[in-house]
Amino acid sequence: MKVVFVGAGPGNPDLLTIQAHRLLSHCQICIYAGSLVSPEVVALTPKGAELHDSAGMTLDEMEIVFARAQENDIDLIRLHTGDPSIYGAIREQMNSLDKMGIDYEVVPGVSSFQAAAAALKTELTAPEIAQTIILSRTSGRTPMPAMQELEHLARIQSTLCLFLSVHKIDAVAAELAGHYGCDCPAAVVFRASWPDEKLVQGSLADIAAKVEEAQINKTAMIIVGPALSRDIPVSKLYHRHFSHGYRQSDSQKDET
Ligand code: SAH
Repeated sequence: MKVVFVGAGPGNPDLLTIQAHRLLSHCQICIYAGSLVSPEVVALTPKGAELHDSAGMTLDEMEIVFARAQENDIDLIRLHTGDPSIYGAIREQMNSLDKMGIDYEVVPGVSSFQAAAAALKTELTAPEIAQTIILSRTSGRTPMPAMQELEHLARIQSTLCLFLSVHKIDAVAAELAGHYGCDCPAAVVFRASWPDEKLVQGSLADIAAKVEEAQINKTAMIIVGPALSRDIPVSKLYHRHFSHGYRQSDSQKDET
């Protein structure tokens, strides 16, 4: 018997991995994060599967479900939104499983920051401008380590993807404008890949007002950085004078 932590992806069931789809369609017991995992994904479990919404459960209650599955020797799926490794609180569950002597595995998923980038049709990196992507959040009931507060992250002007923070877009945009400048592109994607997905695009000067107008206050990704601009330097990768392991530059071809 084992527990499989499965990434449910951002919402659209077509974005599940084949492995996640296969596991879900055979699963007998599933604990899923009901506040975020799409009902369409949960609906892939067979009729009669035992379903538990973790939104209303404590870790102790999950341990009870784990223990019963262990007693009956039935594999259990622990379904997490996006990719389980990002704000999934999986470590504490794994610690419980270690204590209980239950084996576990992880199946990765498409994270919401990736689905948001896809919805925006953007690259998160841009040659010479942004070669670093930071995945972070603002403090909520979970405090931020002091060195990882926004003001520190903003200093390096990387592309910033902020989870769990759209309800504070006002403060976020104001803080970031001081480092990236008011004109820096900013976007918010509500429920990327869901049928009711919404895109809000603007700059740090106007994004907060636009988000308020769109009435978005949860389940959204904030992405900020100059990489979102359409006006960026051309990469060397496809440049005719640049050669790499798989392609010779025009000038090299001329030499041969
Ligand atoms: N493990 C998840 C993140 C869980 S934290 C992942 O990899 O995506 C929950 C936060 O993720 C939400 O507050 C929101 O910021 C973001 N999120 C989850 N699903 C989303 C979606 N479909 N579109 C936009 N943001 C989403």
